[in-house]
This record gives sequence, C-alpha cells and structure tokens, in this order.
Amino acid sequence: MKALVLEKKLQLSLRDIDLPSDVGSRDVKIKMNTVGICGSDVHYYTHGKIGPFIVKEPMVLGHEGSGTIIETGSEVSNLKVGDRVCIEPGVPDINSKEYMKGIYNLDPKLTFWATPPDHGCLTPEVVFPSNFVFKLPDNVSYAEGAMIEPLAVGLQAAEKAKIIPGETALVMGCGPIGLVIALTALAGGCSKVFIADIVKEKLRMCENYENLIPIDLMNQNPIEIIKKHTDDWGANIIFEASGATKAYDFIFDSICPAGKLVIVGNPMNAIPMDFATLLTKEIEIKTVFRYAHQYDRAISLLSSNKINVKPMITDTVAFDDSIKAFERAAKNLPEDVKIQIQL
Ligand SMILES: [Zn+2]
Repeated sequence: MKALVLEKKLQLSLRDIDLPSDVGSRDVKIKMNTVGICGSDVHYYTHGKIGPFIVKEPMVLGHEGSGTIIETGSEVSNLKVGDRVCIEPGVPDINSKEYMKGIYNLDPKLTFWATPPDHGCLTPEVVFPSNFVFKLPDNVSYAEGAMIEPLAVGLQAAEKAKIIPGETALVMGCGPIGLVIALTALAGGCSKVFIADIVKEKLRMCENYENLIPIDLMNQNPIEIIKKHTDDWGANIIFEASGATKAYDFIFDSICPAGKLVIVGNPMNAIPMDFATLLTKEIEIKTVFRYAHQYDRAISLLSSNKINVKPMITDTVAFDDSIKAFERAAKNLPEDVKIQIQL
C-alpha cells in the first residue's frame, strides 16, 4: 500500500510499503480521509528521533487521523461500515497495571502511531482495534475529526488543572497544543485565558476567539499583564505548552498563591526550579503525557460548538503533495498552525 514513509532523518518518500491488512475479530478497516501533520511527525523527519524513540527503520508518519469504516471484524458491535470516525492512536496492553488503573497513556508497552517502531496512518487504508475508534457526529467534519487528537491533549491538561468556573489562566506557547489547551480552558469555565509567545504572527489566531488574550513576549511582560488584570493576585492556572526554558522565568511570579501549574511542553534540557516560590506559594504541579479517556468528550465539545478548531486548520494539501507539505512544516512558518493532508 502507498504511504508517506520516513526512510531516515530528512528523507521522505511516497511509496508502496507492506502494512498489516488482516482485520481481526475486534478490528476495523478504515479508509483514511484526513491526517494532520503534528510537531512530532516533523521532529522525526528533521531529527530522526524524539528522546528515547529513534527511527531505525522506514516508518509511515501521521497520527492525527479521521476516515470511514470500510470493514468490521466479526465481534465489532460499536461501529459499522460507512461510519465516519476518528482514531485514538495509542493502544495500551490491556493486561498492564496502568491500563487496569485507567492511566493507560502511561503504559510503557503502549504502541502509538508514527512512534518508532510503529507505523502511522498516512496511507489510504489502516486496520485498528475498534475500541480506540470513535464515531463522528454528522456536524463534525473529517478535518475537525483529525483535530481531535491534539484536542485530547488540551482536555487532559484541563482535567489535570481541575478548572473552577471563573478562573484565569495563562498558557505559555501559542502553537497548536497551546491553542487547544487555551480553547479547552475557556470551554471548561475559565473567564479569561492569556496566551504568550515570542512569535507575533502566531498570536493573531487569538482574533478568532473571545476572551483569548495575546501576550507578545518580545514586547510585553506576562507578569505585569497578569498582575494588572487580576488586581495583583496572579493567574489561577498556568499551562506550560512551549517546552522553552525561558518560559519558566515568568511562571512563578505570574501564578497566584496556591495556584496550579500544568506542564505539557517537553523541555529538551533539565530546568532549574524556583523552589522557594513554589513552597511559599504552595503551587500545585501537574504534568501531562498524551491523554486517556478524552476522545468522547473532545468530540462532544466540537459537536456542541463549545470549541471551534476550524480557524486553526490553516492549510489542506493533497496526499500526493505530502512530501512538500512536510518540507514546508519543517520551516515552521509563523502563519502555519495546522497543515492537514487529504487522502
Ligand atoms: Zn500529535
């Protein structure tokens, strides 16, 4: 089957590759419609690895997908041929302790699309376990369906933050993940969400959303802005979604007493922590690694129009042009938020 294959660092090809095609009794076969390009796909392309995950053999990219069911296994009862679906790309070992405890995203044996050695979904047809495939309501498009995967990270972060209605949040980093966190925080009851970035063009996305307030880190100091808007109290929640060491310079003075810090961005290096402030403010720290049990609610939020991800989809390209799309994504152009590939 034809697929977008990362042969090795910086080398992509659109070629035939052997992929599993047998539909097991609890599997479904999906004709892929839309696949979003994620920062991690691009990172494997440009660096050949992410932390301990190293591309050693050719790997199909893509993990943010939606499509249509074209075949179901004999024991599948939740889905039928013709259903429009999105796919949760991480499948845990159902005998793992993490799975039994409901924290299956932390299962070290979990397989995840386009994470070595597992192939992704940038190919016309995939076979997948049916219990990780979710039906899309009629009013949610394939393009939006392919946004559920990043949106699930936003929901995981919002759940960790235990948002109380009316709280104020600050998101560090206005990339796709920072944005889905901000939108989920607003949908989850935050009265205002500030979002900070060093790239001014990225912050333009805020114009599409009410109560999402940009902070231009090249010209503005988030500590001053947050204090001004909160009568010197500070933000109730800070979501770190940039992975940048520099972001931590602003966090501890922007957060309110007994505030919550949710870390989503994965920094490349160890970061010094201001423990004196952490302790004297009793700051609660939570971390996020992917997500668990978020897909059904992410779909409901799109279907009920509580969250609109459409402005974030800045371009859609044909499958035949996927190599060009990756070359462009690797340039990290400030006007690109989410590029999707249509199969
Ligand atoms: Zn992703």
